[in-house]
Amino acid sequence: MMRPDVHSQRTRTLEGGGQSTQPPEGPVVYWMHHALRAHENPALDVALSLARQLDRPLLVYQGLSERYPFASDRHHTFALEGAVDVARELAERRIAYRFHLERPEDRRSHLLELAGSAAAVVTEDFPIEPFPSWTRRIANVCRGPVFAVDTACLAPMGVVGRAYERAFAFRKAARPIYREAVSLDHPESEFEPELPDDDIWRPAGALVPDRRSIPEWISSCDIDHAIGPVPHTRGGSAAGYARWVEFRDTRLRAYSRRRNDALDIDGVSRLSAYLHYGMVSPFRLAREAHATGGAGAEKFLDELLIWREMAYAYCFHRPDYESVETLPDWALDSLRSHEADPRPELFSHETLSRGRTGDPLWDAAQQSLLRHGELHNNVRMTWGKALLQWTSGPEEALAMLVDLNHRYALDGRDPASYGGILWCLGQFDRPFTPPKPIVGTVRPRSTRSHARRLDVGRYAELTARPLVEPAPRVAVVGGGLAGLFCARTLMDHGLSVRVFDKGRAPGGRMSSRRTAGGLSFDHGAQYFTARDANFRRSVESWRERGLVDRWRGEVARIEAGEPLAETEPRERFVGVPSMSVVCRHLAEECDVRRETRVERVVRRTGCWSLVDPSGEDLGAFDQIVVATPAPQAVDLLDAAPDLARIARTARMRPCIAVMLAFTERLDVPFDAAFVVNSPLGWIARDSSKPGRSEDLDVWILHATHEWSADAMERDEHRVVEELHDALFHAVSRDPIRATRTSLQRWRYALADEPLDRGCLFDAASGIGACGDWCVDGRIEGAFRSGAAMAGRILGTLAS
Ligand code: FAD
Repeated sequence: MMRPDVHSQRTRTLEGGGQSTQPPEGPVVYWMHHALRAHENPALDVALSLARQLDRPLLVYQGLSERYPFASDRHHTFALEGAVDVARELAERRIAYRFHLERPEDRRSHLLELAGSAAAVVTEDFPIEPFPSWTRRIANVCRGPVFAVDTACLAPMGVVGRAYERAFAFRKAARPIYREAVSLDHPESEFEPELPDDDIWRPAGALVPDRRSIPEWISSCDIDHAIGPVPHTRGGSAAGYARWVEFRDTRLRAYSRRRNDALDIDGVSRLSAYLHYGMVSPFRLAREAHATGGAGAEKFLDELLIWREMAYAYCFHRPDYESVETLPDWALDSLRSHEADPRPELFSHETLSRGRTGDPLWDAAQQSLLRHGELHNNVRMTWGKALLQWTSGPEEALAMLVDLNHRYALDGRDPASYGGILWCLGQFDRPFTPPKPIVGTVRPRSTRSHARRLDVGRYAELTARPLVEPAPRVAVVGGGLAGLFCARTLMDHGLSVRVFDKGRAPGGRMSSRRTAGGLSFDHGAQYFTARDANFRRSVESWRERGLVDRWRGEVARIEAGEPLAETEPRERFVGVPSMSVVCRHLAEECDVRRETRVERVVRRTGCWSLVDPSGEDLGAFDQIVVATPAPQAVDLLDAAPDLARIARTARMRPCIAVMLAFTERLDVPFDAAFVVNSPLGWIARDSSKPGRSEDLDVWILHATHEWSADAMERDEHRVVEELHDALFHAVSRDPIRATRTSLQRWRYALADEPLDRGCLFDAASGIGACGDWCVDGRIEGAFRSGAAMAGRILGTLAS
């Protein structure tokens, strides 16, 4: 069987594929994913060696999927910036490179297609899922051999032989390998492989990574746009080495002294994200640190080689690295025996991820992750251990640690992440007695004791520093769900944001009305679904906090007077005790100017101004977000005619909503119904929703769009009468008199033809528009559009 003639000790041949038969005629394909560099790259060396041996062209393929865990603008931007450097380096070496960005318009599996006809496939041996599974899939379709090469460790994971649980044992076992490896040069192959045919290399529609296009490309990906790129930490080898060289030449010698001071941001190398993506070569870092010598370099090498590579080897040899079962028995037994210990508080994902626990040190640490995508290693351990106090058991603590780390940290999803996370739960450590509540014999490390040796105020100031100076001023016109979620996301990233809404309270079409008699009812949105994973995460958090709950009402369909039960009941959620709590919650920390109608948005030199109906200037801003229904957005987008033209194509339809309150319960076998062949389209017993007062039987009636359009200017009394009669006609019951009534005319209720494009944005002038009409005309759509809008603005900071 064919074997590459280089790096044999760090290369594995994968099972599957067609190793024994004659390889197909295609090129050698190197699938690059965690060694984003064209230098000191053992996988590239192996691919070049195979291309030479087989006399085949070589193609380097890099794909960026929407489906890797925690895919977000942050991770995508970093990887794409890395791809720009890879493209340049490979072009200099005259090696063909093809990049694929998965997007709605191109979700084909290019890699599987390429692998199907490749003479051989080479990839990096990266032990964290989904890469081992994806690599096995490649091996199953490839008729040629598939090789996985360790590109990350000086002591190859396979050679290390097993998972080590203590650093001293790993140090002892790996020392002989490092002794030689730290001073090895990495001579580059001079071989220039043939270029594959153009249709393989540069098929129609192929993207050439280019820094300026990144925000635009990313905006069309179906990923989490609410986690923005980190402008001060650009991806790519050039940025990585610039950081390394500065550290090596000015601070490496002091590393052992400065590394534990979280206030000393430059005391550490801040290279872990570049190492995770393989944008910098660990071989070069080790070589140059070794050449520098001294106590600082020794300590740096201990972290780079021992702690980092022990974690790589651990994950490689222990596929259960993400389960508590991986913990040593003493740690898991102890944590389990303290599972029933009372916790000070259990926090929701939203509270934790936004750093709102009330613990100043922990919140500052989380801010650092959320905003800057990094966390000082010394604080990270305290941050991690605190989660044991705020989750119900070790499984939940591990899951939350993994989530918060991988979602926000640029170096997340790395074996070294698991090294740190598992350490917080006792792995790679020893028991500490006597046992303590909750943590048992796992090493305690409370935020309170850490706060005694760290100036937490200064640390909080450091992590709250803006991403760019000065932080852009953003105005959001419209405080519905889209505008508020956009505003809060931008605030969480340190931007200065002000929201203007013409209503008495924010909430827009998700608000509830309170009558003079103190009766509150949902006169706009009735309920919401949560299919989108990111929205669902927020809904779960709101649910844990009691802000929303499932509405288990029976929903029917009434045709010709007959109610038919739903065949596939949906999971429906509502705000508790009324729909408006959701937006009220989002608005809590936002600067919202209520009862302020924005009449015009005006472009002035270098900024935007908002003007109210009396002509008063509402302030100057760098970026404007128009988050109103489409027809109202058109009026405000005068200064951005291209956006106005697109907004004009989103049709919105009216709806008249009437509330009727009865002292007597309406005797029908359902709580809500879609009505056919009636002036009414929807009826719902508002009082059947969780948390509502049951003193009165309160019904909400929504007229159809057509009926509403006709009746929009009609007298209120007449409209209420007609819809009241329509209700009793629809449910085939004798009319009873309502004791209270109320009416709301929604001119722009539901988006009939949403645009399916996230949001509108003109990056050059800094104005955009969002709202349900950009996505899908529902609450989920408004949320996703607000996130997309925030993503576009955060993208400008990094471009
Ligand atoms: P909006 O909520 O409309 O927010 C826009 C905000 O902009 C408003 O607060 C408004 O006051 C403000 N504004 C407008 N112009 C200006 C200006 N010039 N200056 C300052 N402020 C301004 N969705 C579901 O998922 N499920 C349902 O059951 C459902 N039922 C619905 C029933 C009705 C009757 C209606 C009207 C809507 C319903 N929807 C439903 C749709 C849902 O309410 C919307 O998709 C969502 O609330 C839209 O949020 P948004 O932020 O995009 O816009």
